[in-house]
Amino acid sequence: MREPIFQPLPDKPDHPGLEREMLERWEAEGTFAKLREQNSGGPRFSFIDGPVTANRFSLGVHTAWGRTLKDVFQRYKALRGFEQRYQNGFDSQGLWIEVGVERELGLNSKREIEEFGLEEFARRCRDVVVRSSEALTRGSVRLGQWMDWGRDYLTFSDTNIEYVWRMLKSVHERDWLYLGHRSTEWCPRCGTSISQHELIGSYVDRADPSLFVRFPLLERQGEYLVVWTTTPWTLPANVAAAVNPEAEYGRRANGEWVAVGRYPDERFEEKRPGAELVGWTYRGPFDDITQVEHRVIAWDDVSLDDGTGVVHIAPGCGTEDFELAQVHGLEVVQPVDEAGRFYDGFGWLHGLSTTEAAEQIIGNLEEKGVLVEAGLHEHRYPECWRCHTPLIFRIADDWFISVRELRQQMLDANATVEWTPEYMGKRMDDWLRNMGDWNISRRRYYGLPLPFYPCSCGHLNVIGSRRELEERAVAGLEQLEELRRPWIDRVPVRCAECGKPVERIKEVGDVWLDAGIVPFSTLGWQNDEWVPEGYGTGAAKGLTTADLPDHAYWETWFPADWVSEMREQIRLWFYSQLFMSVVLTGQAPFRRVLGYEKMLDESGREMHASWGNTIPAEDAFERMGADVMRWQFAAQPPDRNLLFGFGPADEVKRKLLTFWHSVKFFVDYANIADFRPTWEGLEPEAVEPLDRWLVERTRAFLADAAAGYERWLSPDVMRDFEVYLDDLSNWYIRRSRRRFWDGEEGALRVLWYALVQSLRVLAPILPFLTDHLWRTLVVDGPESVHLAGWPDVSEPDRALLDEIAAVRRVVELGRQARSTSGIKLRQPLRRLVVEGTSLDGHLEEVADELRVKDVELGPVEAVQLRVKPNLPVLGPKLGRELGAVREALAAGEFEELPDGRFLAAGRELEPDEVLVERGGREGWAVASGDGVTVALDLGLDDELVLEGEAYELIHLANSLRKERGLELTDRIVLTVPEAQRELADRHGDWISREVLATELRVAGDELLLEKS
Ligand SMILES: [Zn+2]
Ligand SMILES: [Zn+2]
Repeated sequence: MREPIFQPLPDKPDHPGLEREMLERWEAEGTFAKLREQNSGGPRFSFIDGPVTANRFSLGVHTAWGRTLKDVFQRYKALRGFEQRYQNGFDSQGLWIEVGVERELGLNSKREIEEFGLEEFARRCRDVVVRSSEALTRGSVRLGQWMDWGRDYLTFSDTNIEYVWRMLKSVHERDWLYLGHRSTEWCPRCGTSISQHELIGSYVDRADPSLFVRFPLLERQGEYLVVWTTTPWTLPANVAAAVNPEAEYGRRANGEWVAVGRYPDERFEEKRPGAELVGWTYRGPFDDITQVEHRVIAWDDVSLDDGTGVVHIAPGCGTEDFELAQVHGLEVVQPVDEAGRFYDGFGWLHGLSTTEAAEQIIGNLEEKGVLVEAGLHEHRYPECWRCHTPLIFRIADDWFISVRELRQQMLDANATVEWTPEYMGKRMDDWLRNMGDWNISRRRYYGLPLPFYPCSCGHLNVIGSRRELEERAVAGLEQLEELRRPWIDRVPVRCAECGKPVERIKEVGDVWLDAGIVPFSTLGWQNDEWVPEGYGTGAAKGLTTADLPDHAYWETWFPADWVSEMREQIRLWFYSQLFMSVVLTGQAPFRRVLGYEKMLDESGREMHASWGNTIPAEDAFERMGADVMRWQFAAQPPDRNLLFGFGPADEVKRKLLTFWHSVKFFVDYANIADFRPTWEGLEPEAVEPLDRWLVERTRAFLADAAAGYERWLSPDVMRDFEVYLDDLSNWYIRRSRRRFWDGEEGALRVLWYALVQSLRVLAPILPFLTDHLWRTLVVDGPESVHLAGWPDVSEPDRALLDEIAAVRRVVELGRQARSTSGIKLRQPLRRLVVEGTSLDGHLEEVADELRVKDVELGPVEAVQLRVKPNLPVLGPKLGRELGAVREALAAGEFEELPDGRFLAAGRELEPDEVLVERGGREGWAVASGDGVTVALDLGLDDELVLEGEAYELIHLANSLRKERGLELTDRIVLTVPEAQRELADRHGDWISREVLATELRVAGDELLLEKS
């Protein structure tokens, strides 16, 4: 015999081991480069990568999920021959990076950063990006993600910054840019405002002080307004108390005024509508510190759901408060500075933080005798998404882009986008309808420098490019290392209006400007000349060799055919991209979006390092393997949270093992038979009905899986695969065992075809395992499954598939019936009756599968129908008549009507009014489903019992063979105990055949086996 053609497989795969081996082979063979070469000039598939923030030093499993989906669909498109860009992106400036560096350096405030020095601080930030991008790249490669690593885009490159500048200039030219003076959410630690889209998902449960405080009325001696607040630090900024003019207010015996509706059980001395309270003046709680006039104002939005119905108004500490101040001409008192500490005009509060002040304020109010009650209040409260400091409100001057004219355009653009799942597109619409103007400025350091140079003459200079900056610079160009603080702050420009030198504002931009511009900055929009390696500018110098393409290239690749990120990106990256694209081109930057929900741990809890339930991707690679992770990711429906963990991984491994065993089964028998298939002859000509079925079944799987990929739904592909795998292993292989033992070429050829084709379908999802098995199974074809392309197959014969599906259904029902009977599967039975389906030409198969002698088609009379009244429904309806109906049903005196109705004791009963049970009569086991009913005759005779014993013996002997480690082809001598002499006499030949015995002896009282 020649050398076996197929490399034998171990009993189970070592995923991490084979994955590392595949990575080495891909690297050595240049597989990815060959794939790109092969597809170059093909149809184009434009994917744009949402940048991952380069601030972590290992890949997280959350990021691995998104990266897997991106990789799956890029690989699928590659199999389809599409040329692609494969450009990865890193978000590389902004607060995330800054906060990490601050932590590393132990810096706690902006003052400390400035003392540390902005130049060195910028270098440290860049260093984080360098280390993080290396680590993330390593993790992604290990995950199997194929990208053009090393040619990444980094958002801190001067090129990217210039593109944002250009966009901002265009916004300014259209008059949408303005400096707003308004109340905004503010992180006191980061010392900057936070924009609306950054608040989403940043609410946490918190217990805050809950205070009821008296405001003594000036004109009404001994009377008070009572207000409720959960932010004591805002009380020194109080200027007004708001009442609902429509609501009724009442005075308690102790002089306290509150809304009657809040205290319906209390007695009041005097009642008045809220409108009559308006204009009353009162003494503020901190009039000893601030001298402000306090009065009662009307506000329709005063809620009667909590508090006292009288609302404390501090325009310097709240958005609505600030708006009310504009309407009512109230004074705006701003109590705290950028770091959230009281200004020095606030006496003993000076220098305290808002939380430090709370306790002292409570004590002070108590001393003054105006504190009614102090406790704690549990509520949802927003915190900074980067540093988790509770946010406060401050009045600040921030730069905004007005969305008034853009809103409808963005909605129109979004209407052209195909969202999966669909509801995420609706979420985007909701967001667009409700979004406020975009607050783009942050008072920070390591970010996009906003190119705004407001001049004292009133003119706002907005610089749109580096060239423009150079042309208008007055000084400082020689030291301009990067378009970044602190260097750029030393370059004043000449005012276009009056010619005076003007300085840049200190603010940097929202990071979502950096990420949103990517469809323009990476594709060379309006760039005259292609610049090789032109993306590696500024901080990105030396970190990437990405080109800066020209405008023709942008025309080719814009808009993206597909993008994919987590749902939260609707208001972040998807939004910022859409925003900029609508500003620059009036159209959406992507045609299709795949969004997905959150990742939780396997028990459904959020993953938090402090809870000890996070899984570093590195651990997952080593303990489950990248393919197993990818399976979990790919099988996850995007509209549900993914419960990720080692438990689900074991489940995946079990399924993968079934597939592995199918391949191993083939390899073992093909080697024995010296079967040598050729790539040329992949499409088999199947003769046997079962073989024909497997070929058609495989074609159907290919077609269904392709449809799943085309819908951007990998879970559909995985579901199809699981059903297919069951058909392959539990039907085809099981039904064909004997033919493999006999080395029948037809069976081997068809099984080989099925396995090879399924590898191609699964290659995008399980790139390691499939390529490993490909190299085992395909000896003379393409060297990698990833270079083999998508199989081109004809339409499957669906009629044949339906026919066998019906057979499998009958067998499944037969098994169910058997399992209820308590009779072993190995025990042959006499008869099966099948009703409700035709089994043309398949009676023998069914008989064989279920181990029955005879299969009959016809009405199943063995069924006993039991109908009982559904008392909770029928009782109230029939009342006294129920007794008669119940008796008739119990006695079996009823008639079955169409549509599940019954007639009993002269009453027609609806399907929901009865409980129906179909059971087997004595001596029968029955099962039914989908209109098919099967009944197994459970009667046994001596003949059947003896046959059952023979099956048992065969099973024992084969287990022994395995235990002894015999090869599949080893022949044996079998010794059967004396007690089973009759069995040996009657069924000896058959038993010998089944266990490959060359001789059958009867002796002793033990089953013995030796190699012959
Ligand atoms: Zn913060
Ligand atoms: Zn000027």
